[in-house]
Amino acid sequence: WRDVVRDAAAVREAAAVAVDAALLAGVLMRTGEQPHASDVVNYAPFTLLPSAVPRALFEQAYAVQQDFNLLVDTISQNKEFLEQTLASTIKVDDFTARLFRIYMQVLEEGLAQTVFLGINRSDYMFDCGLDGTAALRQIEINTIAASFGGLTSRTADVHRLVLKVLGKTEEASHLLPNNPAKGLALGIAKAWELYGSQRAVVMFLVEDVQRNIFDQRCVENELWNRNIRVVRKRFRDVFEQGSLDASRRLYMDGQEVAVVYYREGYVPQVYDQQNWEARLLLERSRAVKCPDIATQLAGTKKVQQELSRPGTLEKLLPGHPEAIARIRATFAGLYSLDEGEEGDRIAATAIADPDRFVLKPQREGGGNNLYGEELREVLQKIKDSPERTSYILMDKIKPQPALNYLLRAHSPLQVSECISELGIFGVYVRQGQELVLNQAAGHLLRTKATEHADGGVAAGVAVLDTPYLV
Ligand code: ADP
Ligand code: MG
Repeated sequence: WRDVVRDAAAVREAAAVAVDAALLAGVLMRTGEQPHASDVVNYAPFTLLPSAVPRALFEQAYAVQQDFNLLVDTISQNKEFLEQTLASTIKVDDFTARLFRIYMQVLEEGLAQTVFLGINRSDYMFDCGLDGTAALRQIEINTIAASFGGLTSRTADVHRLVLKVLGKTEEASHLLPNNPAKGLALGIAKAWELYGSQRAVVMFLVEDVQRNIFDQRCVENELWNRNIRVVRKRFRDVFEQGSLDASRRLYMDGQEVAVVYYREGYVPQVYDQQNWEARLLLERSRAVKCPDIATQLAGTKKVQQELSRPGTLEKLLPGHPEAIARIRATFAGLYSLDEGEEGDRIAATAIADPDRFVLKPQREGGGNNLYGEELREVLQKIKDSPERTSYILMDKIKPQPALNYLLRAHSPLQVSECISELGIFGVYVRQGQELVLNQAAGHLLRTKATEHADGGVAAGVAVLDTPYLV
């Protein structure tokens, strides 16, 4: 969009149209000032222009999604693998340890749950090689509370209009349709149906502060369209109203729950003693958890790092050589910091050359990773202590930046140098041992200014975008 980016008047006009279009389309968030109110809302931040995404890499990301669904689901059923992989982490990371304890407790009692629902989002960046070619590199896979499938179902329409206003009608017609909200709801509806109780509801397990409620409402409304009843509850409500009957069916104040869809529960701060008890109650129940605790653990960064070890995928997915090849082709370099020679060596390398790496703790939700000088300092400090084990190292991905405008409420309109991250939503349902649904459900493109190393849309760093395939 080189011609457009320089035309200040055209940009101003298009930005005004874009903001109104976003509000009309429902690309909304509650405000930071009034996070509990739905009568004071604003548009969710988004780019003025769609961002270029190499078509081959976009297609590659879609083509590997069913493989990732299969892999995550397989790991979630492999106690030995989870136990071995997380053994070093849970010695030093209290949060992962507590999740793991619930996992073991539930297994010891025996699973009441027979239907399993996974909704994940595999995130990628486009790594720019020395010769200028771009490669698809997975950043991580989110197996719990992967967000923005709702709002992003509405952003392509906004960008289509913007391109028309800018005189790019032909280009506007190339923007792809995208409806993750429908795909996610399809998975939830399938799980609800297999659970097999007409009267039972789908429970969205939500945060105390729900700024991103409209994203969730998009999925909720798709379920209501299918005449499936949805309730929104917090961990605190589960503690106060939740109970199990003799066959471990879950009830909230007398209302049976078929599916628990977590949009909360992935950061330690939300768990006080009562909320841990609520989590345990949910996990012990027959209700379909999306995700169950095993699948949440399968999404940890430690598991991601272990998957990149030669031979691990072959052990987990015997008889799937093609899936393994597709999965492995997306891996960046990942390194264990476990105690021992291997960890010592990579720690020394990273301290000598921090800009080559990202240092990641076992946390989700953005803003936890360490880069550059800070990476060096922290690693220097912990390199001889067991605390090192709670982190992994990853090669830093370096995408080619592009110019765009990030539209944010109450912010000046200015051009930024930006990089993008592509996410593909995956949905699958398993009944007993049989995968009855396994699909890619749409995509999410998030874009941020290059001055920010970390952070997503909810963290206020990245904004919603639409891929323009080139
Ligand atoms: P979180 O669970 O907090 O979302 P991520 O692994 O997705 O953790 O990292 C958060 C952000 O940090 C990503 O959205 C991306 O912008 C940046 N990031 C993570 N890993 C890398 C990497 N290897 N190279 C470059 N940037 C990265
Ligand atoms: Mg992430």
